[in-house]
Amino acid sequence: MCVFCKIAAGEIPCTKVYEDEHVLAFLDINPVTQGHTLIIPKKHADDFTQCPSYLVARMHGIARKLAKHYDAILKPKGYHFLSNAKPAAGQSVFHVHFHLIPRYDATDGLDFAFRGTERHKLDPATQKKLHL
Ligand code: AMP
Repeated sequence: MCVFCKIAAGEIPCTKVYEDEHVLAFLDINPVTQGHTLIIPKKHADDFTQCPSYLVARMHGIARKLAKHYDAILKPKGYHFLSNAKPAAGQSVFHVHFHLIPRYDATDGLDFAFRGTERHKLDPATQKKLHL
């Protein structure tokens, strides 16, 4: 059983902030900002590319509710809601989870920025191929 399955089963303790039949949310053990929260499905899937859409939608719904709730308590100025899939993207626990990360200001502990560059632009033929 993976570490998040063990948390979902109550075999490993966590600081729970939400639970229902399908979804659990708890504070990250190594928070990158105050209130850094993980939202997981109780049923195992390796990452969000493997997780049924109804569960992803459900986790998104819980993230929205938690964000509204945290607004009143932690008073952040914004949030990240993201999921790392596979090691190349930085995934370290292979049970799908979404990070809900409150943001306060530029010095809140997280250095996260999209630094786009020309060299990442796709040629028009490849762009066309990407259309599903
Ligand atoms: P990722 O690198 O996207 O797979 O994120 C995994 C996250 O899980 C990290 O932010 C860890 O700090 C967190 N984490 C790992 N083990 C635990 C645990 N037992 N309880 C709470 N958070 C955990």
